[in-house]
Amino acid sequence: MENMRVKVRIRCNQCGEKFVLRGKREKGRIDTGFKQCLCNNTEDFEIEEQMV
Ligand SMILES: [Zn+2]
Repeated sequence: MENMRVKVRIRCNQCGEKFVLRGKREKGRIDTGFKQCLCNNTEDFEIEEQMV
């Protein structure tokens, strides 16, 4: 299956902010458009993926 829709929960490991985003899973990677947290953290996240 390609282009599966997923819901992604992202938690910033630096400031604790949480985000819930919709994304697409394409060829093994998830595209949510998420770039960075409000605290400018761009790579230290805990990511949890859920089927929609
Ligand atoms: Zn943050």
